[in-house]
Amino acid sequence: MSDRFLNVDPTRCVGHGLCAEILPEAIALDDWGFPIIASTPLPRWLRRQGARARSVCPALALSLDGQPSRKGPPPAPSTRVGAGGETAGASSRPH
Ligand code: SF4
Repeated sequence: MSDRFLNVDPTRCVGHGLCAEILPEAIALDDWGFPIIASTPLPRWLRRQGARARSVCPALALSLDGQPSRKGPPPAPSTRVGAGGETAGASSRPH
């Protein structure tokens, strides 16, 4: 059986924390209640709980995929780069 990776879509996740209650062996929460998931394959013995965590996520933000997600958490506001390459907060242009 191929590896399965638990991924979270940060654009959907609203930080309920329910997933970490169901699967504390693989999901931790950050200080704001958003999940932190290892990019390693979900151990086989946790796949059933992983599927359950996915099914109860009220935001449909969790998925079990054949590869780790390339989406990471959004960058902190002070480091976001704009379309023109400028860093937020560092632009001298008026808004
Ligand atoms: S249950 Fe879903 S919405 Fe809630 S923290 Fe987990 S992934 Fe995010």
